[in-house]
Amino acid sequence: FKPANYVAGLQGLWTAEGGNASYALLTRCFVLVNSTQSRIKIVDTLVNLLRVIIEGDPSSLLPTVWLATNSISPPYISLELGLGGSAISKALKTICGLDGRTLKTLYDKVGDAGDVAFEAKKRQSFTLRKPKPLTIKGVYQSLVKIANTQGTGSGEIKQSIVNKLLQDARGPEESRYIVRTLCQHLRIGAVKTTMLIALSRAFLLSRPPNADFLLKSQEELVKLKKEALAEVWVRPEEIVKACFAKRPNYNDLIPVLLEVGVCDELLVKCGLTLHIPLRPMLGSITRDLSEMLTKLQGRDFTCEYKYDGQRAQVHCDARGKVSIFSRHLELMTDKYPDLVALIPKIRGDEVSSFIMEGEVVAVDKESGELKTFQTLSNRARKDVAIGNVKVAVCLFAFDLMYLNGEPLLDRAFRERRELLRSLFTEVPNQFTSVKSIDATSLDSETVLEFFKSATDAKCEGIMVKILDNLPNPKLDEEAEKDLLKHESPAKSGKGKKKVDKEIEPEKKSRRKALLATYEPDKRLDSWLKVKKDYSTTFDTLDLIPIAGWHGQGRKAKFWSPVLLAVRNEETGSLEAVCKCISGFTDTFYKANKDFYAEGGEHVLGGKPGYVEYEGGYPPDVWFEPQEVWEMAFADITISPTYTAAIGLVSEEKGLSLRFPRFLKKRDDKSIEEASTNHFLAGLWRKQEERASAPQEIKRED
Ligand code: ATP
Repeated sequence: FKPANYVAGLQGLWTAEGGNASYALLTRCFVLVNSTQSRIKIVDTLVNLLRVIIEGDPSSLLPTVWLATNSISPPYISLELGLGGSAISKALKTICGLDGRTLKTLYDKVGDAGDVAFEAKKRQSFTLRKPKPLTIKGVYQSLVKIANTQGTGSGEIKQSIVNKLLQDARGPEESRYIVRTLCQHLRIGAVKTTMLIALSRAFLLSRPPNADFLLKSQEELVKLKKEALAEVWVRPEEIVKACFAKRPNYNDLIPVLLEVGVCDELLVKCGLTLHIPLRPMLGSITRDLSEMLTKLQGRDFTCEYKYDGQRAQVHCDARGKVSIFSRHLELMTDKYPDLVALIPKIRGDEVSSFIMEGEVVAVDKESGELKTFQTLSNRARKDVAIGNVKVAVCLFAFDLMYLNGEPLLDRAFRERRELLRSLFTEVPNQFTSVKSIDATSLDSETVLEFFKSATDAKCEGIMVKILDNLPNPKLDEEAEKDLLKHESPAKSGKGKKKVDKEIEPEKKSRRKALLATYEPDKRLDSWLKVKKDYSTTFDTLDLIPIAGWHGQGRKAKFWSPVLLAVRNEETGSLEAVCKCISGFTDTFYKANKDFYAEGGEHVLGGKPGYVEYEGGYPPDVWFEPQEVWEMAFADITISPTYTAAIGLVSEEKGLSLRFPRFLKKRDDKSIEEASTNHFLAGLWRKQEERASAPQEIKRED
């Protein structure tokens, strides 16, 4: 982290006019990230880029973060560029002097619009005017202007902004990334997923705060050895992630970071706020009821119906303004005017403002009978007029996160639930609390009956939630023993350290799992989902298809096998886990081949830096990560070929799946929600436990 090495080869690159950080700097960072396979290098490059900006031109930090994460606004603010591919083609023709035919040949040859821009710029033989070096701020402002330009004549204005950007782009690489940014396909997913980690580290190195968790100067910090540094990173990363989970908007986070740095004050200044959605808490999967009962031994919990609808986060302020957000933080107030109209009826006298969560489910208006998710998805998405609502819905509330100006996230679920039940009024078939029963592990009969009644009522299964924050020393001890069991694979000195390091966060998260607080953006054992399917079939994984080989014989026209990967959340890389040839129909194969057509927009020019795969024969094409596929498998094996979860169960080997089988596409999941290396390692451990002690785990239900 010596300043001279901030970003290799940046001499003379970093400032443009007026001391503003140049776009060349950001481009250099993209090129470096794209050219390496090392996760550590990717994170370090990003950290170094951010340090340069924080120290040299802090006013460019926010635009840098938006551009590097390939967005210009959070999901709940709809700011679309609204550019067609033709705007880019037109600009390339005007600026680089290409005719339509040459451009088409280039598209056919390289596929990706950014790569076309790279080639086109290389061939440019004239300039219309002297280019003015692009700055990060300037590019970001141009994007915002494109998005905000609407109405008559907007096409021309947008076109002239695109032309200007390409005119001023210095050299082929800048052109490539300008065009990829305009197409909203930066193709460097790793940057997006590691941004919060990189921000916390960059701030620590640039402006070490005088905080309890860090009483070190910058000089001391940069001299620390890797292991010591890794420990220093932990708390700041937690703080930045916690802020972003409660208020997922860089427009809010970055100014406060610049003001106070990474310290506990950040949590206060950038916390939960009305009309800004927090990232939802997520449920952990359990295989079946007996596993759930084993996990929650000794605890009071509640079982709730797991309704099959759409998750909704409802915000209401003291003046009665209502905002409704989706599971993915999109604003959907317009979709549910009937729910908005319902709020004054359900809000009791003692309630001024609140944030509540629930599942919106299609129901029969008269009888209240639950309808399928399919029925709900027939409902129009935008600008629904209240008199025009065709599909009646009921909101089944399950949590209360904020009340009368106060966040409730740190309160135990029993208390939050009590407030929800007592302060809000039921409206038949339109608003009610989720159906639930409270239980302990001793009530297995009751729980089984409740599970059956849930599935009979067309629910997907049940959600099981810890009720109290009671620390339970017995359970804590057991969790500790459990974890120690898994430290055995690496006995030797060097390996042992690595495993210990990996176990540490998990140990913490298990401890956390004993609490009944609301943990935004976390998937902990305090919320367990038991679905109908899990109780009859094997575990499944949500994997990302990343590459394919030409099929043989009948399958010669298709991609078969397809290579699949899990996510590594810490590094943003994708770790290959298996090849799959099973579960596909010919219709699926064909659609898949069309989607990932050679030279098409979803196929990359070569192996991307963020993919970890060391297998023998290289794939014929590399897919751009686009989809999530739900996969079944017979079991998980330790593999010398695949890199998935490497370092988590063995130092040198990864994990792979035996007999992987495609089940379905998860269109409702983005690639950021695909299964992680830690999740895979967790499934492997469970499998090993089952194998060594089947009678302990299997209970009668
Ligand atoms: P996840 O949302 O956990 O990432 P997923 O998209 O696969 O995963 P599910 O496995 O269906 O979702 O389970 C979680 C979802 O169940 C929640 O996001 C919520 O929409 C829904 N749900 C229904 N009933 C409840 C309930 N009582 N408590 C919490 N969530 C519920």
